[in-house]
Amino acid sequence: MRARAVVDLAALRANVRALRAAAPTAELMTVVKSDAYGHGMVPCARAARKAGASWLGAATPEEALALRAAGDTGRLMCWLWTPGGPWRQAIEADIDVSASGLWALREAVAAARACGRTARLHLKADTGLGRSGCQPADWPALVDEARAAEAEGAIRVTGLWSHFACADEPGHPSIGAQLSVFRDMVAHAEQAGLRPEVRHLANSPATLTVPESHFDLVRTGIATYGISPSSELGAAADFGLRPVMTLSAALASVKRVPGGHGVSYGHRYVTPGETTLALVPVGYGDGIPRHASGTGPVLVAGKWRTIAGTVAMDQFVVDLGGDTAAPGDEAVLFGPGDRGEPTAEDWARAVGSIAYEIVTRISARIPRVYV
Ligand code: PLP
Repeated sequence: MRARAVVDLAALRANVRALRAAAPTAELMTVVKSDAYGHGMVPCARAARKAGASWLGAATPEEALALRAAGDTGRLMCWLWTPGGPWRQAIEADIDVSASGLWALREAVAAARACGRTARLHLKADTGLGRSGCQPADWPALVDEARAAEAEGAIRVTGLWSHFACADEPGHPSIGAQLSVFRDMVAHAEQAGLRPEVRHLANSPATLTVPESHFDLVRTGIATYGISPSSELGAAADFGLRPVMTLSAALASVKRVPGGHGVSYGHRYVTPGETTLALVPVGYGDGIPRHASGTGPVLVAGKWRTIAGTVAMDQFVVDLGGDTAAPGDEAVLFGPGDRGEPTAEDWARAVGSIAYEIVTRISARIPRVYV
Protein backbone atom coordinates (compact mmCIF):
# COMPACT_ATOMS: atom_id res chain seq x y z
CA MET A 1 0.00 0.00 0.00
CA ARG A 2 1.35 3.43 -0.94
CA ALA A 3 0.34 5.01 2.32
CA ARG A 4 -2.14 4.44 5.10
CA ALA A 5 -3.48 5.92 8.28
CA VAL A 6 -3.88 3.19 10.86
CA VAL A 7 -6.64 4.16 13.30
CA ASP A 8 -6.34 2.35 16.61
CA LEU A 9 -9.92 2.07 17.83
CA ALA A 10 -8.85 0.30 21.04
CA ALA A 11 -6.83 3.42 21.87
CA LEU A 12 -9.83 5.60 21.04
CA ARG A 13 -12.06 3.56 23.35
CA ALA A 14 -9.48 3.80 26.14
CA ASN A 15 -9.30 7.58 25.60
CA VAL A 16 -13.09 7.85 25.84
CA ARG A 17 -13.01 5.92 29.11
CA ALA A 18 -10.22 8.18 30.41
CA LEU A 19 -12.30 11.25 29.55
CA ARG A 20 -15.35 9.82 31.31
CA ALA A 21 -13.18 9.31 34.37
CA ALA A 22 -11.90 12.91 34.08
CA ALA A 23 -15.48 14.22 34.25
CA PRO A 24 -17.23 11.62 36.42
CA THR A 25 -20.25 13.76 37.26
CA ALA A 26 -21.02 14.76 33.67
CA GLU A 27 -22.19 12.96 30.57
CA LEU A 28 -19.71 12.73 27.71
CA MET A 29 -20.24 13.99 24.17
CA THR A 30 -17.61 12.71 21.75
CA VAL A 31 -17.09 15.30 19.04
CA VAL A 32 -16.80 13.58 15.65
CA LYS A 33 -17.04 16.57 13.31
CA SER A 34 -14.78 16.90 10.30
CA ASP A 35 -14.64 13.14 9.80
CA ALA A 36 -13.70 12.63 13.46
CA TYR A 37 -10.77 15.02 13.12
CA GLY A 38 -9.63 13.02 10.08
CA HIS A 39 -9.90 9.62 11.77
CA GLY A 40 -13.14 8.51 10.09
CA MET A 41 -16.48 9.58 11.50
CA VAL A 42 -18.58 6.41 11.52
CA PRO A 43 -16.04 3.91 12.89
CA CYS A 44 -14.91 6.42 15.53
CA ALA A 45 -18.50 7.23 16.49
CA ARG A 46 -19.27 3.53 16.95
CA ALA A 47 -16.15 3.00 19.03
CA ALA A 48 -16.96 6.03 21.19
CA ARG A 49 -20.49 4.76 21.80
CA LYS A 50 -19.09 1.37 22.84
CA ALA A 51 -16.81 3.08 25.34
CA GLY A 52 -19.70 5.00 26.90
CA ALA A 53 -20.15 8.26 25.00
CA SER A 54 -23.84 8.98 25.64
CA TRP A 55 -23.76 11.91 23.18
CA LEU A 56 -22.08 12.53 19.85
CA GLY A 57 -21.39 16.04 18.57
CA ALA A 58 -21.13 17.16 14.97
CA ALA A 59 -20.68 20.61 13.50
CA THR A 60 -22.89 20.41 10.41
CA PRO A 61 -26.35 18.91 10.09
CA GLU A 62 -25.06 16.89 7.14
CA GLU A 63 -22.56 15.19 9.43
CA ALA A 64 -25.27 14.41 11.97
CA LEU A 65 -27.60 13.07 9.28
CA ALA A 66 -24.77 10.86 7.97
CA LEU A 67 -24.40 9.39 11.45
CA ARG A 68 -28.11 8.59 11.54
CA ALA A 69 -27.88 7.07 8.04
CA ALA A 70 -25.07 4.87 9.37
CA GLY A 71 -27.38 3.59 12.08
CA ASP A 72 -26.51 5.71 15.11
CA THR A 73 -29.56 6.06 17.34
CA GLY A 74 -28.17 7.77 20.46
CA ARG A 75 -28.27 11.40 21.52
CA LEU A 76 -26.65 13.46 18.82
CA MET A 77 -26.27 17.20 18.46
CA CYS A 78 -25.10 19.49 15.68
CA TRP A 79 -24.55 23.21 15.96
CA LEU A 80 -23.40 24.84 12.72
CA TRP A 81 -26.58 26.11 11.10
CA THR A 82 -27.13 28.53 8.27
CA PRO A 83 -30.44 29.93 7.03
CA GLY A 84 -32.39 27.41 4.97
CA GLY A 85 -30.55 24.45 6.55
CA PRO A 86 -32.07 20.96 6.79
CA TRP A 87 -33.92 21.65 10.06
CA ARG A 88 -36.82 19.39 9.24
CA GLN A 89 -34.67 16.39 8.34
CA ALA A 90 -32.65 16.88 11.53
CA ILE A 91 -35.75 17.16 13.72
CA GLU A 92 -37.31 14.11 12.09
CA ALA A 93 -34.04 12.21 12.67
CA ASP A 94 -34.14 13.04 16.42
CA ILE A 95 -31.04 15.21 16.21
CA ASP A 96 -30.64 17.92 18.84
CA VAL A 97 -30.28 21.24 17.04
CA SER A 98 -28.86 24.55 18.20
CA ALA A 99 -29.85 28.20 17.93
CA SER A 100 -27.55 31.14 18.55
CA GLY A 101 -30.13 33.74 17.62
CA LEU A 102 -33.72 34.46 16.71
CA TRP A 103 -33.46 33.56 13.03
CA ALA A 104 -32.28 30.04 13.89
CA LEU A 105 -34.88 29.59 16.62
CA ARG A 106 -37.60 30.68 14.20
CA GLU A 107 -36.42 28.30 11.47
CA ALA A 108 -36.33 25.42 13.97
CA VAL A 109 -39.83 26.28 15.21
CA ALA A 110 -41.21 26.54 11.67
CA ALA A 111 -39.67 23.18 10.71
CA ALA A 112 -41.02 21.53 13.86
CA ARG A 113 -44.52 22.86 13.18
CA ALA A 114 -44.30 21.69 9.58
CA CYS A 115 -43.51 18.12 10.55
CA GLY A 116 -45.61 18.01 13.69
CA ARG A 117 -42.67 17.16 15.94
CA THR A 118 -41.14 18.79 18.99
CA ALA A 119 -37.60 19.89 18.13
CA ARG A 120 -34.94 19.32 20.77
CA LEU A 121 -33.03 22.56 20.81
CA HIS A 122 -29.98 23.94 22.62
CA LEU A 123 -29.65 27.70 23.05
CA LYS A 124 -26.08 28.83 22.53
CA ALA A 125 -24.64 31.71 24.50
CA ASP A 126 -21.62 33.75 23.49
CA THR A 127 -19.89 33.95 26.87
CA GLY A 128 -16.76 35.49 25.39
CA LEU A 129 -15.51 33.44 22.45
CA GLY A 130 -16.83 36.01 20.02
CA ARG A 131 -17.77 33.44 17.43
CA SER A 132 -21.27 31.98 17.30
CA GLY A 133 -23.67 32.28 20.23
CA CYS A 134 -26.11 34.84 21.52
CA GLN A 135 -24.68 37.96 23.13
CA PRO A 136 -25.72 38.51 26.77
CA ALA A 137 -27.65 41.64 25.75
CA ASP A 138 -29.76 39.65 23.26
CA TRP A 139 -30.23 36.62 25.52
CA PRO A 140 -33.47 37.65 27.30
CA ALA A 141 -35.30 38.06 23.97
CA LEU A 142 -34.03 34.69 22.71
CA VAL A 143 -34.99 32.99 25.98
CA ASP A 144 -38.48 34.56 25.96
CA GLU A 145 -39.19 33.45 22.42
CA ALA A 146 -37.87 29.96 23.15
CA ARG A 147 -40.08 29.78 26.22
CA ALA A 148 -43.13 30.71 24.12
CA ALA A 149 -42.24 28.09 21.48
CA GLU A 150 -41.87 25.52 24.26
CA ALA A 151 -45.30 26.39 25.62
CA GLU A 152 -46.74 25.79 22.16
CA GLY A 153 -44.97 22.40 21.94
CA ALA A 154 -42.85 23.26 18.90
CA ILE A 155 -39.55 22.90 20.75
CA ARG A 156 -38.14 21.59 23.97
CA VAL A 157 -35.07 23.47 25.18
CA THR A 158 -32.87 20.48 26.03
CA GLY A 159 -29.62 22.39 26.39
CA LEU A 160 -28.01 25.68 27.32
CA TRP A 161 -24.45 25.89 26.15
CA SER A 162 -21.37 27.85 25.20
CA HIS A 163 -17.77 27.32 24.09
CA PHE A 164 -14.40 28.39 25.56
CA ALA A 165 -11.89 30.63 23.80
CA CYS A 166 -8.69 29.92 25.75
CA ALA A 167 -9.19 26.79 27.84
CA ASP A 168 -5.94 25.43 26.41
CA GLU A 169 -4.00 28.23 28.14
CA PRO A 170 -3.81 27.31 31.82
CA GLY A 171 -4.93 30.14 34.09
CA HIS A 172 -6.06 32.39 31.25
CA PRO A 173 -8.33 35.04 32.78
CA SER A 174 -11.00 34.49 30.13
CA ILE A 175 -11.69 31.00 31.54
CA GLY A 176 -13.09 32.30 34.83
CA ALA A 177 -14.77 35.20 33.05
CA GLN A 178 -16.58 32.89 30.62
CA LEU A 179 -17.63 30.57 33.46
CA SER A 180 -19.15 33.48 35.32
CA VAL A 181 -21.01 34.82 32.26
CA PHE A 182 -22.26 31.30 31.51
CA ARG A 183 -23.58 30.84 35.06
CA ASP A 184 -25.42 34.18 34.80
CA MET A 185 -26.94 33.37 31.41
CA VAL A 186 -28.04 29.91 32.58
CA ALA A 187 -29.53 31.41 35.75
CA HIS A 188 -31.46 33.95 33.68
CA ALA A 189 -32.86 31.23 31.39
CA GLU A 190 -33.84 29.04 34.32
CA GLN A 191 -35.52 31.94 36.11
CA ALA A 192 -37.46 32.55 32.91
CA GLY A 193 -38.77 28.99 33.13
CA LEU A 194 -36.47 26.93 30.91
CA ARG A 195 -35.52 23.52 32.33
CA PRO A 196 -32.63 22.21 30.20
CA GLU A 197 -31.51 18.61 30.51
CA VAL A 198 -27.89 19.58 29.93
CA ARG A 199 -25.85 22.70 30.50
CA HIS A 200 -22.51 22.38 28.73
CA LEU A 201 -19.38 24.42 28.21
CA ALA A 202 -16.24 22.27 28.45
CA ASN A 203 -14.13 21.16 25.48
CA SER A 204 -11.12 18.82 25.87
CA PRO A 205 -8.78 21.21 27.70
CA ALA A 206 -11.52 22.29 30.12
CA THR A 207 -12.58 18.68 30.66
CA LEU A 208 -9.01 17.81 31.58
CA THR A 209 -8.14 20.84 33.68
CA VAL A 210 -11.19 22.94 34.69
CA PRO A 211 -13.54 20.67 36.68
CA GLU A 212 -15.85 23.52 37.63
CA SER A 213 -16.71 23.85 33.94
CA HIS A 214 -18.09 20.31 33.58
CA PHE A 215 -21.77 21.08 34.42
CA ASP A 216 -23.97 18.24 33.04
CA LEU A 217 -22.07 17.35 29.87
CA VAL A 218 -18.57 17.77 28.45
CA ARG A 219 -17.81 17.91 24.71
CA THR A 220 -14.46 16.35 23.93
CA GLY A 221 -12.88 16.25 20.50
CA ILE A 222 -9.10 16.28 20.28
CA ALA A 223 -8.43 14.31 23.47
CA THR A 224 -10.57 11.47 22.11
CA TYR A 225 -7.99 11.07 19.39
CA GLY A 226 -5.18 10.90 21.94
CA ILE A 227 -3.78 14.35 21.34
CA SER A 228 -3.14 16.92 24.05
CA PRO A 229 -5.02 20.18 23.39
CA SER A 230 -1.77 22.09 23.95
CA SER A 231 1.75 21.43 25.14
CA GLU A 232 1.20 24.08 27.87
CA LEU A 233 -1.35 21.77 29.47
CA GLY A 234 0.87 18.71 29.30
CA ALA A 235 1.51 15.73 27.07
CA ALA A 236 -1.25 13.35 26.03
CA ALA A 237 0.28 10.61 28.19
CA ASP A 238 0.04 12.87 31.29
CA PHE A 239 -3.74 12.57 30.91
CA GLY A 240 -3.69 8.84 30.13
CA LEU A 241 -4.38 9.45 26.43
CA ARG A 242 -2.84 7.57 23.53
CA PRO A 243 -2.64 8.89 19.94
CA VAL A 244 -5.06 7.02 17.71
CA MET A 245 -3.68 7.69 14.20
CA THR A 246 -0.41 6.44 12.72
CA LEU A 247 0.40 7.78 9.26
CA SER A 248 2.95 5.88 7.22
CA ALA A 249 4.01 5.37 3.61
CA ALA A 250 6.14 2.88 1.69
CA LEU A 251 9.30 4.35 0.16
CA ALA A 252 8.78 4.59 -3.60
CA SER A 253 12.44 4.87 -4.53
CA VAL A 254 15.89 5.02 -2.97
CA LYS A 255 18.85 6.27 -5.01
CA ARG A 256 22.37 7.57 -4.74
CA VAL A 257 22.97 11.07 -6.06
CA PRO A 258 26.10 13.20 -6.25
CA GLY A 259 26.77 16.28 -4.12
CA GLY A 260 25.36 19.56 -5.40
CA HIS A 261 22.16 17.92 -6.67
CA GLY A 262 19.02 20.03 -6.44
CA VAL A 263 16.04 18.30 -4.84
CA SER A 264 12.34 18.82 -5.69
CA TYR A 265 10.62 21.90 -7.11
CA GLY A 266 12.57 25.11 -6.78
CA HIS A 267 15.73 23.26 -5.76
CA ARG A 268 15.26 24.55 -2.22
CA TYR A 269 17.49 21.73 -1.00
CA VAL A 270 20.82 20.90 -2.58
CA THR A 271 22.66 17.76 -1.49
CA PRO A 272 25.70 18.72 0.58
CA GLY A 273 27.71 15.75 -0.77
CA GLU A 274 27.11 12.37 -2.33
CA THR A 275 24.12 10.92 -0.53
CA THR A 276 21.10 8.63 -0.61
CA LEU A 277 17.69 10.13 -1.31
CA ALA A 278 14.46 8.32 -0.48
CA LEU A 279 11.13 9.20 -2.04
CA VAL A 280 8.10 9.25 0.28
CA PRO A 281 4.97 9.03 -1.91
CA VAL A 282 2.67 11.43 -0.07
CA GLY A 283 2.26 15.16 -0.55
CA TYR A 284 -0.05 18.07 -0.08
CA GLY A 285 -2.72 16.20 -2.07
CA ASP A 286 -2.79 13.83 0.88
CA GLY A 287 -2.95 16.67 3.39
CA ILE A 288 0.76 16.92 4.19
CA PRO A 289 1.29 20.63 4.82
CA ARG A 290 3.43 22.27 2.13
CA HIS A 291 4.80 24.31 5.02
CA ALA A 292 6.54 21.12 6.11
CA SER A 293 9.03 21.65 3.25
CA GLY A 294 12.45 21.63 4.89
CA THR A 295 11.01 21.04 8.38
CA GLY A 296 8.65 18.04 8.65
CA PRO A 297 10.05 15.11 10.61
CA VAL A 298 9.75 11.54 9.27
CA LEU A 299 11.08 8.27 10.71
CA VAL A 300 12.99 6.43 7.98
CA ALA A 301 15.59 3.69 8.52
CA GLY A 302 15.54 4.16 12.28
CA LYS A 303 16.13 7.93 12.41
CA TRP A 304 14.16 11.15 12.16
CA ARG A 305 14.76 12.79 8.80
CA THR A 306 13.79 16.26 7.78
CA ILE A 307 11.88 16.71 4.54
CA ALA A 308 14.46 17.75 1.94
CA GLY A 309 13.16 20.56 -0.24
CA THR A 310 9.62 21.22 -1.30
CA VAL A 311 6.61 19.00 -0.51
CA ALA A 312 4.92 18.33 -3.87
CA MET A 313 1.32 17.25 -4.44
CA ASP A 314 2.06 13.54 -4.27
CA GLN A 315 5.55 13.11 -2.90
CA PHE A 316 8.49 14.47 -0.97
CA VAL A 317 12.12 13.48 -0.51
CA VAL A 318 14.22 12.73 2.55
CA ASP A 319 18.00 12.67 2.62
CA LEU A 320 19.29 9.50 4.27
CA GLY A 321 22.91 10.66 4.22
CA GLY A 322 25.12 7.61 4.68
CA ASP A 323 22.25 5.32 5.69
CA THR A 324 20.49 2.91 3.40
CA ALA A 325 16.93 1.78 2.86
CA ALA A 326 15.03 -0.13 0.19
CA PRO A 327 11.95 0.68 -1.85
CA GLY A 328 8.95 -0.52 0.14
CA ASP A 329 10.53 0.25 3.53
CA GLU A 330 8.24 2.09 5.87
CA ALA A 331 8.41 5.84 6.45
CA VAL A 332 6.41 6.82 9.52
CA LEU A 333 5.26 10.43 9.50
CA PHE A 334 3.54 10.39 12.87
CA GLY A 335 2.04 8.06 15.42
CA PRO A 336 1.97 7.50 19.18
CA GLY A 337 5.77 7.86 19.31
CA ASP A 338 6.57 4.58 20.98
CA ARG A 339 8.42 3.19 17.96
CA GLY A 340 10.54 6.33 17.90
CA GLU A 341 8.36 8.07 15.31
CA PRO A 342 7.32 11.74 15.54
CA THR A 343 3.86 12.57 16.86
CA ALA A 344 1.24 14.83 15.31
CA GLU A 345 2.30 17.34 17.99
CA ASP A 346 5.89 17.21 16.64
CA TRP A 347 4.48 17.97 13.18
CA ALA A 348 2.45 20.84 14.55
CA ARG A 349 5.57 22.36 16.11
CA ALA A 350 7.55 21.84 12.88
CA VAL A 351 5.00 23.63 10.71
CA GLY A 352 3.73 26.25 13.17
CA SER A 353 0.25 24.80 13.45
CA ILE A 354 -1.75 22.76 15.95
CA ALA A 355 -2.05 18.99 16.04
CA TYR A 356 -5.81 19.37 15.44
CA GLU A 357 -5.01 20.60 11.93
CA ILE A 358 -2.31 18.01 11.23
CA VAL A 359 -4.65 15.03 11.71
CA THR A 360 -7.82 16.65 10.37
CA ARG A 361 -6.29 17.64 7.04
CA ILE A 362 -5.11 14.11 6.11
CA SER A 363 -7.15 13.68 2.96
CA ALA A 364 -9.50 10.95 1.78
CA ARG A 365 -6.81 9.73 -0.63
CA ILE A 366 -5.08 8.09 2.34
CA PRO A 367 -6.97 4.91 3.23
CA ARG A 368 -7.91 4.56 6.90
CA VAL A 369 -7.17 1.12 8.26
CA TYR A 370 -9.05 0.34 11.48
CA VAL A 371 -7.45 -1.91 14.04
N1 PLP B 1 -17.51 21.98 21.13
C1 PLP B 1 -17.51 22.74 20.02
C2 PLP B 1 -18.65 23.67 19.78
C3 PLP B 1 -16.47 22.69 19.12
O1 PLP B 1 -16.49 23.43 18.01
C4 PLP B 1 -15.39 21.80 19.39
C5 PLP B 1 -14.24 21.75 18.49
O2 PLP B 1 -13.59 22.72 18.20
C6 PLP B 1 -15.42 21.03 20.54
C7 PLP B 1 -16.49 21.14 21.40
C8 PLP B 1 -14.30 20.09 20.90
O3 PLP B 1 -13.12 20.79 21.16
P1 PLP B 1 -11.79 20.00 21.50
O4 PLP B 1 -11.38 19.31 20.24
O5 PLP B 1 -10.82 21.03 21.94
O6 PLP B 1 -12.16 19.04 22.56
